[in-house]
Amino acid sequence: MSKLSIKDLDLQGKRVFVRVDFNVPLSNGGREITSDKRIKASIPTIQYALDHGAGLILASHLGRPKGKPNAEMSLKPIAKRLEELLGRPVRMAPDCVGSEVEAMKPAPSEVLLLENLRFHAEEEQNDEAFSRQLAALCDLYVNDAFGSAHRAHASTVGMVKFVSQGAAGLLMEQELKYLTLATKNPPRPCIAILGGAKVSDKIEVIANLMKIVDRLLIGGAMAYTFLKAQGVSIGKSLVEDDKLDLAGELMAESGDKLVLPVDHVVAAEIVAGAEFKIVDIIPDGMIGLDIGPRTVADYASIVSASKMVVWNGPMGVFEKPPFDRGTVAIAKAVADSGAISVVGGGDSEKAVKSAGVADRISHISTGGGASLEFLSGMELPGVAALNERR
Ligand code: AMP
Repeated sequence: MSKLSIKDLDLQGKRVFVRVDFNVPLSNGGREITSDKRIKASIPTIQYALDHGAGLILASHLGRPKGKPNAEMSLKPIAKRLEELLGRPVRMAPDCVGSEVEAMKPAPSEVLLLENLRFHAEEEQNDEAFSRQLAALCDLYVNDAFGSAHRAHASTVGMVKFVSQGAAGLLMEQELKYLTLATKNPPRPCIAILGGAKVSDKIEVIANLMKIVDRLLIGGAMAYTFLKAQGVSIGKSLVEDDKLDLAGELMAESGDKLVLPVDHVVAAEIVAGAEFKIVDIIPDGMIGLDIGPRTVADYASIVSASKMVVWNGPMGVFEKPPFDRGTVAIAKAVADSGAISVVGGGDSEKAVKSAGVADRISHISTGGGASLEFLSGMELPGVAALNERR
């Protein structure tokens, strides 16, 4: 069964509460938005609801105000940017609950933006009375904040049962469509590429994806924990010694599914432009900073034969050229493969953008933590709370 979508709702004349993710980076004491990417990502759902006759109540958290009002984490600058993007007025509420907010309830085609949900500690506590107050503002509930769906808060879980219908917004629906495809009956061969700094962050993802995918390609520093567990020398590369047994167990369970790098780009220090060498075995005193060209070629050929690719985490220290080459080459291989591709995690997104191939990736997830939990096989509370489509 799939979740109810905003497209299944009768929105005409209804007041719709849309939980959005407006947790944007701010500068200048909270006055300037440094990236409006998340605001733009919510526009299709907002526009859809307006086009179908709804009055909109938009709500989000921003930063970590720890349950108290904080002018540096106000959503006011977002109301202004949203007005520009929508080309219509957006009223800013002084709070997210209370009589002043109730008096501002929007009429059809009006947009009201609530103040930061986390100015109330009850939001993160998933408090029932607070959830009821939020729910009392609206007729229908839509969650478009995939990036917060792994949190059981009042605005993502608590309030949903007090509203007649709870549905996924267009962005949430898109996330669920691709991540569900990747984890349930994907087109085959289906492969995963996992990189980044630590095995420990992605143990559950590796264990779950191992049950699903045909090959699991490992890159980044996490490869060195696996290689060390095999008894291979890794020099001074980043390693998690307390995870060697676990890495050994995962490899034993995986048969030949788990694929490790066969060569490496090494340097004596982690510095952009450092002198580097390409080696099969990392010498003492050297640090592995990227996958080598033979590994790139092997991985690219596995990628090109696949029908679905899930990628999370860079193949090396891609922030410091020339140690970005492996990651960029893999990004290009994924884009060129024609496979359905799902990329998650902030760093992998940066990598596909810097490789200039973002527009050829089927889906770039907007939620790092949420997409990792989904790929771990966990049910996200913010998704579970929504009604099933019948
Ligand atoms: P994650 O957040 O787990 O996806 O890790 C991303 C970070 O892993 C990036 O900042 C990379 O620089 C880092 N990383 C990737 N490969 C290596 C490596 N071989 N050595 C040290 N750090 C790495």
